[in-house]
Amino acid sequence: MNDKVDKVTRSKIMSRVRGKNTKPELALRQALFSVGYRYRLHAKHLPGKPDLIFPFYKVALFVNGCFWHWHGCKYSRFPTSNLEYWKKKITGNQERDKVNYEKLLSTGWRVLIVWECSLKKDEIEKTVNSVDRWIKGKVHSDSSLKYDCFPAN
Ligand SMILES: [Zn+2]
Repeated sequence: MNDKVDKVTRSKIMSRVRGKNTKPELALRQALFSVGYRYRLHAKHLPGKPDLIFPFYKVALFVNGCFWHWHGCKYSRFPTSNLEYWKKKITGNQERDKVNYEKLLSTGWRVLIVWECSLKKDEIEKTVNSVDRWIKGKVHSDSSLKYDCFPAN
């Protein structure tokens, strides 16, 4: 990501990236709805406000931006300026995420993280299949994992 834009514009861009109802999130919602899932959105009463919850399965799903939550894939790239600022910000996000996931797990929720890069056009079908299997409990994750992260990074 280059940094030819000024600080204000940059932070506007960044806050848009972070928003709810992003395009990848909508795509996932639509796909899951079309295979029969019903869910609630942005559950405010739960830690971290999961993007989708499936009360019947007690699953909390987060659609995580690869930059904001730091996936480590090719879409996770720091801007070239204000590096320290962004590093601090991202580390803070990661720590907050971890606390929220732990809280959910300790109250009996299963936690599923879907990275935005896995919701791109040529990936989404595969992702939705895996999400479907995971929610229905057909995929058993490594028991040493504290929460299930899909796709594994
Ligand atoms: Zn990614």
